[in-house]
This record gives sequence, C-alpha cells and structure tokens, in this order.
Amino acid sequence: MIVAKRKPFEEIKEMLKGYKKVLNVGCGTCVAVCLAGGEKEVDVLNIELDMAGKLDENPIELGAMTIERQCDREYLEALDPLVDDYDAILSMACGAGIQFLAERYPHKPIFPAVDTTFIGVNQGVGWYEERCRSCGSCVLGLTGGICPVTMCAKGLYNGPCGGTNKGSCEIDKDQPCAWYLIYERLSRQGRLDNILKFSPATDWQNQIPRTLIQPGYKKSEEV
Ligand code: SF4
Ligand code: SF4
Repeated sequence: MIVAKRKPFEEIKEMLKGYKKVLNVGCGTCVAVCLAGGEKEVDVLNIELDMAGKLDENPIELGAMTIERQCDREYLEALDPLVDDYDAILSMACGAGIQFLAERYPHKPIFPAVDTTFIGVNQGVGWYEERCRSCGSCVLGLTGGICPVTMCAKGLYNGPCGGTNKGSCEIDKDQPCAWYLIYERLSRQGRLDNILKFSPATDWQNQIPRTLIQPGYKKSEEV
C-alpha cells in the first residue's frame, strides 16, 4: 500500500490561513489503512483545527467527507455537490489522490494534509516499512523477492558495491546489505545462478508521468 503520514499541524494551519470554510476530504483506502488519512483522521484533524481556530479567534467552518478512493474518478463524483460550498479543500489522500482532486476542481484551492512517504508493508500496528519504489521493471524474480532498488542504499540492480561488509551496508552497520540478503536467499533456494544474470540499467532520465492500460482495456476518451 501507499504509506503516508500527517503533516505537522502548524503547517496545515498555515496553509489554511485566510480560508473561512474548508472541506476536509479523507480517502478510504491506503491512507486509511496506514492511519494517516481515513475517516477517523479527518475527524481528529477537524477537531484540532476547530479548537485552534477558536483559540486564535479566527474560526474556520469545517466540512468532512471520506470517499473510497481519491485516485478514482468514479468516487470523486460524490464531492461534486459539495465543493462549491467551500473556499478551499484539504485532502488527506496520497499525492496521486490530491492531484486528481485538484484536476477535477481546478477553480478551488486544494491543500495536502499528509506527506506521501512510500509503498510499503504493515509490520505491526502503526509500523510500516518501505518495500517498493515502483521502478517499473520489477526484478524480484531474479533477486529472491528482495527489492534491490528499495533495500540497497545505492539502488544497485546487479550485485553489491565494494562497501558491503560482513552482511552490513557501508552506510550503517545496523543496515543489512541488500545484496548480502539476496545472496543468502538465493543460496538457500539453490538459485545462486541468478546472481550472474544481468539486469539492464534503468534510464532515469527524462522521466514523464507513466501510464498503464491493462490488456483488454483502452484509454477512455472521457477525461
Ligand atoms: S524492483 Fe523493487 S522498486 Fe522495482 S517494481 Fe520491483 S519491488 Fe518495486
Ligand atoms: S553495501 Fe550493499 S546495500 Fe549498501 S550500498 Fe553497497 S550493495 Fe547496496
């Protein structure tokens, strides 16, 4: 899932300065699961903003609405009847959801209430770890299911650098060397020959937003 964390309260407050009526929109998917931007977090933030507004003698009228996914047009439609009643929108979705919201309502100022952090896994309640940087060319089949882009400090696709040191990464002795872990995993599975297979370098130059259309679907004309 996409993991995010709420922005510091003062930063959110500063962004909303001057707006009298703000709709806070939560997202019911990734950010809800990682406890950053779902229905509960929307309510908590609104209570804090409400209290702060009263203390500052500058009250804001706050609305709340959490939709299933802000990155999906189908769910954004539910906001259409509400948006014009507000001066600004605060979004608790990931960066993709916030941008989709901003595209749908270009006449309305939209502010992010969370910082999108990484694609990760849930290790325990409130504990998340990064696992993927969406490189677009997954090599997990060669690397024993360990992502070299995310887990190696240099994102190396084809084996360790000279800094690998008895299982640790040169940047920190408590950080395991990703390529040591990959070697160990492949060795255990009897697949060490994979280490010799070469993954072409990823061209990170001239990056433009990527598009994916699944087989059997086509790009909709309606935007
Ligand atoms: S190689 Fe790593 S960053 Fe690339 S898609 Fe696979 S898990 Fe994600
Ligand atoms: S020591 Fe290992 S994890 Fe650290 S940068 Fe080098 S190859 Fe990557």
